[in-house]
Amino acid sequence: MNFVTHLECSNCKLELESERLWNLCPSCKKPLLVRYDLDEIRKTVTRDDIAHREQNLWRYEEVLPVRKDIYKYTLGEGCTPLIYARNLGDRIKFSGLFIKEEGMNPTTSFKARGLVMAVSRAKELGVRALSIPSAGNAAGAMSAYAALAGIPAFVFMPKDVPQPFIAECKALGATVRLIDGLITDCGRIAANELVTHNRFDVSTLKEPYRLEGKKTMGYEVAEQLGWRLPDVIIYPTGGGTGLIGMWKAFDEMEKLGWIDSKRPRMVTVQSDGCAPMVRAFKKGDEFAEPWQNAKTVADGLRVPAAVGDFLILRTLRESNGTAVAVSDNEMIHAANLIGQTEGLFVSPEGGATLAAFQKLRMKNWIEEDETVILFNTGSGHKYSHLWGTEATS
Ligand SMILES: *Cc1c(COP(=O)(O)O)cnc(C)c1O
Ligand SMILES: [Zn+2]
Repeated sequence: MNFVTHLECSNCKLELESERLWNLCPSCKKPLLVRYDLDEIRKTVTRDDIAHREQNLWRYEEVLPVRKDIYKYTLGEGCTPLIYARNLGDRIKFSGLFIKEEGMNPTTSFKARGLVMAVSRAKELGVRALSIPSAGNAAGAMSAYAALAGIPAFVFMPKDVPQPFIAECKALGATVRLIDGLITDCGRIAANELVTHNRFDVSTLKEPYRLEGKKTMGYEVAEQLGWRLPDVIIYPTGGGTGLIGMWKAFDEMEKLGWIDSKRPRMVTVQSDGCAPMVRAFKKGDEFAEPWQNAKTVADGLRVPAAVGDFLILRTLRESNGTAVAVSDNEMIHAANLIGQTEGLFVSPEGGATLAAFQKLRMKNWIEEDETVILFNTGSGHKYSHLWGTEATS
């Protein structure tokens, strides 16, 4: 059974049929969203049914876009632990802290969630070659699922991306192109070759299905908290797919009768070396100006311009959330604090969420008795160069 009714433009509301390939809205060039018959799903499946299912993101299959079971590829993505951070909480004097440990996903980041969905659906719709510009983790995830689905993968990464990201793509059989520039330059070059080589582009939010994969974080958090949501979610934001996706998931879950209308305040964290969303949020802008000379060790946050900028900013405002920039040093310092207290080797992006938490707690924007989820979006292992090789004492 599948409950997709159509695709809908997030901006101009144009409706499109779901059984053919689309990238951005053909009319206004903004992201497309997948719509489901939620009334019918509500009659078909309950929260208790979900509880007994397999431990990967296909447990939410009724609200996912792939139709046939043979295309529901999996490497075990999703169902990551939501860890109550008792030791860290003791250290920083806050008792309501949880870490969603997305580093446990296949290819060690939450990009696996988005790309399992995009690649599975692309295969179902007959795609013969896949293309992605990536600052790091997305390329590895696409390569993994492309290998599993038997589709050739073409990856475009900045040439200064750390070696483990390149190694991973190569080992997974992708064709890797290293570009002298940023992810936006990679995107331009990848786009130039799409038509001549008949490749399908799975850039963030430039096709509708990565968002559907990433929204499962919203379903999972609710399920893991007993179908309640926290007061605050702190999310390291690049293209914003996870943030926008979770917000969509909350809305769907309320319509399904699985949660009530209470929503978390959503917080975007970026690096002070690349903070287009923070700047736009502070200025009250609807869209974000591209960031010049983007520079940060958090490769997932080195995104100077995002096609879903208005959706990120809208989510932050609707949720009474906020946007915070932290320095690369603060990220690493916070990553070490998580490592030393909780035993998790987190990415700088994950560290950024704790650094942001500390700033917001200091201002009392987060209050003492609130429940807060930090998203560690990836493992530290692909970033080990940031810790050097010298001994510690
Ligand atoms: C891609 C990435 C991000 C940013 O995710 P978006 O959903 O695109 O905002 C954050 N952290 C890591 C580790 C990433 O790989
Ligand atoms: Zn449109």
